[in-house]
Amino acid sequence: MALTISSDLCTGCAACEDECPNSAVHMKRGMYLIDPDKCTECSGKFDQPQCQAVCPMTGCISKAG
Ligand code: SF4
Ligand code: SF4
Repeated sequence: MALTISSDLCTGCAACEDECPNSAVHMKRGMYLIDPDKCTECSGKFDQPQCQAVCPMTGCISKAG
């Protein structure tokens, strides 16, 4: 399972990129994206998804699919 970033809500603040323990968040063509092959939803490392915890935009990061 992976999380995804809403391009409509993301302000590009970059907070999520620094927090990800799996380096799953990257900027691509001016937009922040989560690599679904790397995102584990922080399972086994943190109690909650760290990107979601630091994102200032409510609803910006949510479950993919
Ligand atoms: S949920 Fe965790 S592993 Fe997935 S992108 Fe966010 S910080 Fe990275
Ligand atoms: S923390 Fe939220 S608003 Fe900031 S870059 Fe990441 S997804 Fe976008």
